[in-house]
Amino acid sequence: AQQFGITEALKQLGVKAINEGTSTGQNHFSNGEIMESFSPVDGQLIATVKTSTAADYEKVMQTATEAFKTFRLMPAPQRGEIVRQFGEKLRKNKEALGKLVSYEMGKSLQEGYGEVQEMIDICDFAVGLSRQLHGLTMHSERPGHRMYEQYHPLGVVGIISAFNFPVAVWAWNTALAWISGDVCVWKPSEKTPLCGVACQNIIAEVIKENNLPEGISCLINGDYKIGELLTNDKRVPLISATGSTRMGKIVAQAVAGRLGKSLLELGGNNAIIVTPDADIKMTVIGAVFGAVGTAGQRCTSTRRLIIHESIYDKVKDALVLAYGQLKIGNPLDQNNHVGPLIDVHAVKMYTNALEKVVAQGGKILVEGGVLSGEGYESGCYVKPAIAEANNSFEIVQHETFAPVLYLLKYSGSVENALEVQNGVAQGLSSAIMTNNLREAELFLSVVGSDCGIANVNIGTSGAEIGGAFGGEKETGGGRESGSDAWKIYMRRQTNTINYTTSLPLAQGIKFDL
Ligand code: NAD
Repeated sequence: AQQFGITEALKQLGVKAINEGTSTGQNHFSNGEIMESFSPVDGQLIATVKTSTAADYEKVMQTATEAFKTFRLMPAPQRGEIVRQFGEKLRKNKEALGKLVSYEMGKSLQEGYGEVQEMIDICDFAVGLSRQLHGLTMHSERPGHRMYEQYHPLGVVGIISAFNFPVAVWAWNTALAWISGDVCVWKPSEKTPLCGVACQNIIAEVIKENNLPEGISCLINGDYKIGELLTNDKRVPLISATGSTRMGKIVAQAVAGRLGKSLLELGGNNAIIVTPDADIKMTVIGAVFGAVGTAGQRCTSTRRLIIHESIYDKVKDALVLAYGQLKIGNPLDQNNHVGPLIDVHAVKMYTNALEKVVAQGGKILVEGGVLSGEGYESGCYVKPAIAEANNSFEIVQHETFAPVLYLLKYSGSVENALEVQNGVAQGLSSAIMTNNLREAELFLSVVGSDCGIANVNIGTSGAEIGGAFGGEKETGGGRESGSDAWKIYMRRQTNTINYTTSLPLAQGIKFDL
């Protein structure tokens, strides 16, 4: 870590090193237990963080609700200016924060920087949006009446995030919530608490420099229990939760129980359909990056390749060749393609999946395994594996958050491949590789992919912030980031104004007194 400048990065981001004590994050109430953050890169203890107790949570909520009372009065373009300044701070801290993301989470340095770039991009997007929080105007059926709709700030937004995008998911939510006039309470993943502290420190500076109330951005560190306080709290009108489908089902029920709104971004089981008209070279690049990038720990990672029988062997051979060239090791070293999994629990899930696919009738094509020895001391490095399988296998139906790719064969027309692609419980990302216009259009049509993201001639993995991001079915149905995703962070109000001296009723109803 030393040679990659982690100590300097921590210092710049205001995260205390081990010998300096325990971090809390600015404007943070935390009197709970101490949480340790170990790096999956080298197994070292990076730093410690104080968790929040239930009493701290109460103080956080008071600060947040108080801050909302004034923040909502600030004109939206001025709130945009705050988000613009936040984006500027992120630009200054891009290198340090990118390094911390890479070291604490284990993704490659380039992806760490890319994640911070996504934060900067969503800030830019939100700044423009702060002048475009438009409602519609309608023609009233009554003379002398005017109708329109407007969007008002919602209140306190609770954000629960996953370990694999430890900083970007928070920014996707906060940038839009802040321009909308909301205040945010964030519970980061307990696997990446230092990223949470670093982000909180960055925004706290902006808040201070603008003499704004601290409660605009709050941080609560801890495990699922502190998250439960948030999901059960009726002072929080919107919960945006990113993580596993298992977590999403619990959170959705808690929030629905109090008739709150939830925005759910849950697991995927993403497939690429490879038709006889596919460009094989593009297919292999897209599939390999999709399956092994971030060590298969993206919600949009490619899990299944559905390949036409006529080109199956060709694609298979090209994949085996490509996997043979992958370099596995320290993700801060840019020569490596594949970094570690987040922890040994994730390694166990990976080995379980490989055992299960064989037990259920599959055949291993590229052997997996856990790496040991020099450079692999953390015990979190695994070999990306490929198995030939069947879509009906129980293990194929599940999202294994690791670099395991299943090859599935189809015959006949692309409709058969679509049936396989849609034949899982999740509905996040999907892709087709084809130069055949009919196949591509069918894939995008109403009878095509049932996912929230459907791509042609690019892989499943990664997305730009300009589009709405999210998925259907067990992925939870939420949309974040671009397009009109901002609307969930606001409450819509329909207004009818009568500027006459009479009171005509709608639908011509007469009520004479
Ligand atoms: P996880 O579900 O274990 O945890 C996610 C977050 O939820 C953590 O902060 C955790 O503390 C919290 N949590 C867990 N149980 C809770 C409860 N009962 N109440 C309140 N909070 C609770 O997920 P993970 O292992 O951190 O992340 C991996 C998963 O996230 C994968 O399934 C991946 O596909 C998914 N993911 C989805 C998206 C998306 O946009 N669709 C993005 C990133 C990750």
